[in-house]
Amino acid sequence: MPNSVAATLVARLVSGRLDALLDRHVALLARIDKRWREAVKQGEARLPCRPGDCACCCGVFEAPLLDALALARWLRWRGATTEEARRARLQSEAATAAGWPFPHFFGDAGGDRMETALAALDDAPCALLTAEGVCAAYADRPSICRFQGFRFADPKTGATLDDACPRRPAGPALAFDLETYDAVEASLFAALVESVPGLGARDIGQWDVPIATAVLWGLET
Ligand code: SF4
Ligand code: SF4
Repeated sequence: MPNSVAATLVARLVSGRLDALLDRHVALLARIDKRWREAVKQGEARLPCRPGDCACCCGVFEAPLLDALALARWLRWRGATTEEARRARLQSEAATAAGWPFPHFFGDAGGDRMETALAALDDAPCALLTAEGVCAAYADRPSICRFQGFRFADPKTGATLDDACPRRPAGPALAFDLETYDAVEASLFAALVESVPGLGARDIGQWDVPIATAVLWGLET
């Protein structure tokens, strides 16, 4: 079932049938950047990132499906470089060799298989990390990348979102409406389920994929 879902997703992506939905999702992603840019501008927080300082860009982590599709679309438009394609293929092959088959939906990984795949790729730089140590897809990067460097907290629900940045300065969390973000993402996912029915068989998070998968989807013709 996952393979047929992936095939349908890619076919929809290539045909442009997901464009309107992905445009709405890109607008949702932009809310994260807008929030931290405001905070930096107002002196509420400081962005710790510097070129080459990219600890959070190594290893395998979960990109929500809509994030991955938006990134894959951008790569289709822009074209992946040979090096990006090479790195994505290597990471995908390592995950497959560890028993986690392409397209590496997180719902298909479990227990030891997952641990083995993640450990093997722990130090692997993201396929989109350039030789200069910056993100080649910065404006189109997934939400998990946008949430790095800051700690976000929803003032309404008290929910917090911690990042993996070892350099994040101490300080209060940035107020961010995580509940609304999640609700909008869920509504967009529901719209995607209408276009790709097999998606409804699993919870949204089960369809998360590594960034390497988004790159490889972006290479599909
Ligand atoms: S969020 Fe932290 S680890 Fe990631 S690039 Fe910025 S400083 Fe480096
Ligand atoms: S997409 Fe960009 S920000 Fe995200 S892990 Fe890759 S290089 Fe880093």
